[in-house]
Amino acid sequence: MDIKKMFINGEWIQPQNDQTRDIINPYNQKVIATVAEGDKTITREAIQAARNAFDSGSWKSTPATERGNLLFKVAGFIERDKEELAELETLDTGKTIVESRVDMDDIAGVFRYYAGLADKDGGEVIESPIPNSSSKVVREPVGVCSQITPWNYPLLQASWKIAPALAAGNTVVLKPSEITPLTTIKVTELIEEAGIPKGVFNLVLGAGHTVGQELVDNVQVDLVSFTGGIHTGKKIMKAAADTMKNIALELGGKNPNVVFADANMETALDQALNAAYFHAGQVCSAGSRLIVEDKIHDSFVSQLAERVKHIRLGNGFDETTHSGPIISAEHRAKVESLVAIGKQQGANLLIGGKRPDSPELQNGFFYEPTIFTDCTTDMKIVQEEIFGPVITVERFTTKDEAIQLANDSIYGLAGAVWTEDTLKANEVAAELRMGTVWINDFHPYFAQAPWGGYKQSGIGRELGKHGLEEYTEVKHIFQNTKPAPINWFK
Ligand code: NAD
Repeated sequence: MDIKKMFINGEWIQPQNDQTRDIINPYNQKVIATVAEGDKTITREAIQAARNAFDSGSWKSTPATERGNLLFKVAGFIERDKEELAELETLDTGKTIVESRVDMDDIAGVFRYYAGLADKDGGEVIESPIPNSSSKVVREPVGVCSQITPWNYPLLQASWKIAPALAAGNTVVLKPSEITPLTTIKVTELIEEAGIPKGVFNLVLGAGHTVGQELVDNVQVDLVSFTGGIHTGKKIMKAAADTMKNIALELGGKNPNVVFADANMETALDQALNAAYFHAGQVCSAGSRLIVEDKIHDSFVSQLAERVKHIRLGNGFDETTHSGPIISAEHRAKVESLVAIGKQQGANLLIGGKRPDSPELQNGFFYEPTIFTDCTTDMKIVQEEIFGPVITVERFTTKDEAIQLANDSIYGLAGAVWTEDTLKANEVAAELRMGTVWINDFHPYFAQAPWGGYKQSGIGRELGKHGLEEYTEVKHIFQNTKPAPINWFK
């Protein structure tokens, strides 16, 4: 099997340490690829390449329209190679092929969106209060950007970072999750094919504590954009402080899904499943905290449990599969330990809470869709991001109580409210302390709208025009149009 390499300064490189890592399919634990394993030395080389490419000035002074055209090319190549990319994503993550195809369409869309946005900012002219002067504000690229991505949406998360950073004229060193690097490697080939100049985009592979840490510590880096867990995010924020880097952090969530008694039941039930069990619940915005009005609680929960029985776990390549496995043995063990704590703390395990019995699922890291009822906000399963197929159910009687419960979290990524009463829906949406609130829906996101968290779910925004602004510095240029001595020191 070919060893997949890193991409530094326009060359595909195997680091001198000659170390490699096997990439495992979580559906059957088979090795699907072997990739180079980087270290701090090779990461420094990649950062130096990005630094040189930025400091030479040629990329940032390439007309924005031209940078956009190169990104349009990348989008076209992603569309051309969509099936290959989707298959790689399913092999690597275990998610269904149907989902992976949707991801690839979204990813091409993200590249198209930022390709189009690249040349739209004309700066700003300020009415200067000082006579005989002009004043303008321009946005410039930040410089060298480190980008670190997670395993759950490997290429989608990478696209949210690569496309705006390059559109704005930055240079990049990206490290995908060591568990799921394959689609990011493939897209690096497409970036090369599109003709993006040497050193502008660099790919490093390896572990967080070596390669990732260097990307955060290195003084030559101007910005770190990270998507991943809250604990890593905190480490990165502390480490980045030493060199006062710009940071963008997209962290976890524990997202409330609030259902009022006057909601459309059929839709709310169907979407509660989608909210929580899509991609085996390994979604930062998963609706894992179901908060249901007292009046409908019992019937809602029993109907939900009935539907859960029909969820088909299986091979992501089987188009009838609803949901694939958990990403790894370690992660499934974490889900299992949180479920055990849920039981100890007195939550009622209604359904699931174990590995499936089916013989054909025994080689994968599968876990049954699970519902806990009788949950309260002091329970660990209600407060911690489980990142697996687990719903906790709480109940409320008044609107204020629903809001108070939904906001009782260190996280603030996303949440939803279900009701036919538009006024009530908007009142609740206004009170929720979250970066995204869905009314009568769950999960929609798109390139045009910002994405990010309040509270400990992160700092900054991706997507939309905000996602481009993250990759810019704001400069004020003041010009005296009639220079003359002031004579203060005369
Ligand atoms: P993780 O924090 O374990 O790892 C994320 C990345 O950070 C990986 O590439 C890893 O190698 C790297 N890393 C680890 N330690 C590091 C260090 N000390 N310095 C630098 N880099 C380091 O997260 P994960 O398990 O891969 O992903 C799951 C998490 O990501 C969940 O918490 C999920 O909510 C979050 N997530 C958030 C969003 C969002 O948009 N807010 C999107 C997707 C995933």
